Amino acid sequence: MRMSRYFLPILKETPSEAQIVSHRLMLRAGMIRQSSAGIYSWLPLGLRVLKKIEAIVRDEQDAAGAQEILMPTIQSAELWQESGRYDDYGAEMLRITDRHKRDMLYGPTNEEQITDIFRKDIKSYRDLPKNLYQIQWKFRDEIRPRFGIMRGREFLMKDNYSFDLTPEAGVLSYNTMFIAYLRTFARLGLKAIPMRADTGPIGGELSHEFIVVAETGESEIFYESAFDNFDPLAIEADYGGDLQPIVDHWTSHYAATDEMHDASNCPDRLVTGRGIEVGHIFFFGDKYSKSMGAQVQNADGEMVNAQMGSYGIGVSRLLGAIIEASHDDNGIIWPESVAPYKVGLINMQVKDDDCTATCDKIYKTLQSQGVDVLYEDTSERAGGKFAKMDLIGLPWQLIVGPRGLKNGTVELKNRATSERVELSVEAAVSQLVG
Ligand code: ATP
Ligand code: MG
Repeated sequence: MRMSRYFLPILKETPSEAQIVSHRLMLRAGMIRQSSAGIYSWLPLGLRVLKKIEAIVRDEQDAAGAQEILMPTIQSAELWQESGRYDDYGAEMLRITDRHKRDMLYGPTNEEQITDIFRKDIKSYRDLPKNLYQIQWKFRDEIRPRFGIMRGREFLMKDNYSFDLTPEAGVLSYNTMFIAYLRTFARLGLKAIPMRADTGPIGGELSHEFIVVAETGESEIFYESAFDNFDPLAIEADYGGDLQPIVDHWTSHYAATDEMHDASNCPDRLVTGRGIEVGHIFFFGDKYSKSMGAQVQNADGEMVNAQMGSYGIGVSRLLGAIIEASHDDNGIIWPESVAPYKVGLINMQVKDDDCTATCDKIYKTLQSQGVDVLYEDTSERAGGKFAKMDLIGLPWQLIVGPRGLKNGTVELKNRATSERVELSVEAAVSQLVG
């Protein structure tokens, strides 16, 4: 992409409505624009990151054996009346009436809808287990939408639902997602600590929230510092094998949000801090299958309620969480796995023929090698170009100026470390391709 053509509306001033750094930076970097309270449009730079996060979430779901589907955003109220949640859900549910005066709603979550899909087509234990996921927009009429996309009203969630014959098999599905979540967050450059959680309106007994430690998080958290030495990247997920030891390891130390924290019954030394909930998993057995008649025949010919779990990741909230965890005074520092472009190619002197010819050539080469590159080809002054590149936080900046080119060199800057090295054009390109 050429900067001269890109829709990247950078803000020079710090927007006064934004209280936390991720919200400020997303607005300044032209990633999102508010449409109404808690509802945002995604501009090209923001959407690219959202898609990259989505791709990692999808990859780990697929690897864990879940199958992707897509359910509608608009649901019929009838299903929610069946489960009894239509009234329970309260004011957070956006209720809609269609032209025939039928009650509809914009889905805040999909347990009812998936149970309906399941019960219509799955009748036998032979069809189990099943784990179905979607990446779809949700609407919750939050009382206090704030912090940009972190607590929006419309937000993107990966939600999935597992169906098993027995409670033991249900726990295995739960453990599978537990590990898939740790791996997903690690690939996004985040360490999320699993914390025992309240099951709330979803219901059930077994539940963990995945919390990223961050000063600006909305949850107060208490955990043992032993978690600092835990490495989610070291988890080798053998989904066919015994997962319990990994789950046991990750739950062997105390970690709780304020909702579940028990001051009279916890270890002496705890780290107290704040965190962002990026994921939440539940095993709730037959809560929905019983009320909605989702039964399958077991090997003895008896009809039994399917054992269900549900699992959510806040895909759009993750952008905020990643920025909270990775930024400096100059702007965002994207982990390479989700960066909108890998490299910003900066032409320091567009009027200089040598500079522009070299940049054009590098641009073509990188593109043909599959490297995502944003080419700063405008006539803005150098200081402005540097500030903008630092703000949008691409992992690498390749700086091409007339002075360096006289000696055959360009500069490669690492955004995270600020380290700059002078290299030949070929060496710089091969480092970026490699
Ligand atoms: P919270 O406690 O933050 O209100 P929740 O417990 O109501 O979240 P879940 O039903 O567990 O949310 O939804 C799964 C995930 O969706 C959450 O872990 C979170 O990452 C994300 N999420 C929930 N509500 C919002 C929101 N209003 N804006 C953005 N992401 C959200
Ligand atoms: Mg939750």
